[in-house]
Amino acid sequence: MFGRMKEDLARRLASLREEGLYKEERVITTPQGREIGVETSPRGPLAAPAAPSGGAGPAGTATGAQAEAGNTPGHQSRVLNFCANNYLGLSSHPQVIQAAKEAMDRWGYGLSSVRFICGTQSLHRQLEFAVSEFLLTEDTILYAACFDANGGVFEPLFGEEDAIISDELNHASLIDGVRLCRAQRLRYAHSDMAELEKALGDARDARYRVVCTDGVFSMDGDIARLPDICGLAERHDALVLVDDSHATGYLGPGGRGTPELLGVEGRVDLITTTFGKALGGASGGCTSGRAEIIAYLRQRSRPYLFSNTLAPAVAGGTLKALELAAASPERRRRTLDNARQFREAMTATGFDLLPGETAIVPVMLYEEPLAVEMARRLLAEGIYVIGFSYPVVPRGRARIRVQLSAAHTPEDVETAVRAFRGVGRELGVVA
Ligand SMILES: *Cc1c(COP(=O)(O)O)cnc(C)c1O
Repeated sequence: MFGRMKEDLARRLASLREEGLYKEERVITTPQGREIGVETSPRGPLAAPAAPSGGAGPAGTATGAQAEAGNTPGHQSRVLNFCANNYLGLSSHPQVIQAAKEAMDRWGYGLSSVRFICGTQSLHRQLEFAVSEFLLTEDTILYAACFDANGGVFEPLFGEEDAIISDELNHASLIDGVRLCRAQRLRYAHSDMAELEKALGDARDARYRVVCTDGVFSMDGDIARLPDICGLAERHDALVLVDDSHATGYLGPGGRGTPELLGVEGRVDLITTTFGKALGGASGGCTSGRAEIIAYLRQRSRPYLFSNTLAPAVAGGTLKALELAAASPERRRRTLDNARQFREAMTATGFDLLPGETAIVPVMLYEEPLAVEMARRLLAEGIYVIGFSYPVVPRGRARIRVQLSAAHTPEDVETAVRAFRGVGRELGVVA
């Protein structure tokens, strides 16, 4: 049986490459940060990882692939990183690392359990309290990832008699979460409030209605129209759920994300978010909001009941990242200043950017192979960015998504713009 499947998959992989849709994974040789080391010539999709610096393991055990792709010094370079979700520059922050180490010393490496059996330490409760305090919500439930938070939030709460109304550009994990439940599904065109209102009307006979949206849309970098969404939801007696993964920590004066930025705190019933982006960037996520909903999710949410508890080191590191985020208006200002500087200079250079005010700046190239080639040449110029193509964005809407961080300096941003200008001219993207 596999023989046929093998040929079929090989053909599909080859056609992905031809169309410029194949996603090469580049191998980073340093911790995450403003400047990173990258292997510049990986051999194929499974290029072997580099040995940790200091040379672990006898050289004799290295495979041919490792020798070729992994540890050849000439194949590594230092580059400025413009594609991490490291919005506040906390991903390798010494205090976060220290807190994670202390949590591991104090609480151990792993719990080997889900929360309700023997996977809840006071550390986990402490993180839930800290998130609730930070987001000004009633309670919070942790998950291994925000993907799981979204995968586990709909199915326990909504059934056949209910309706879920989604923005068409919502993150894949929200889409999958909705698919896992039996509620009626309605979709509105991206940020189209007339269509949302119509969908709310169409769902008037449902027992419960819930509008769910990204706070910041990950591929376009724009912000949901939460004041309008909350207003419509109130008028039509619907709940509101916001996935604020690309905002928590760095948007809003206190870093509390899009509800704070747009003045709708208390009107959003549920927030799902990640610890894998601005808040230290390790992993983990949560659902935060109305106490009774969170209490019920603890009883019924499948990724919570059937998946391991957050590792203590991650919980401890995230607690510190939250503390730093809460106390860092200066970091937030730097992130947004860098984004503004980049947008202005790139627009002046003639690049086609999607408009917005977040630290996600999509540089539109439309054609998939062009986006791939541009990212490749930028890497050679010391700027690490990635071309995004189908299925992450629609076909014919390929782009380079640039992400700014508080870790960047204004000089870094200038360096990036200079490289974009040079490569953009070589490829005929700008004059
Ligand atoms: C990144 C992201 C997620 C997934 O978060 P993980 O914690 O990495 O699973 C979910 N939703 C949105 C909107 C995201 O941007």
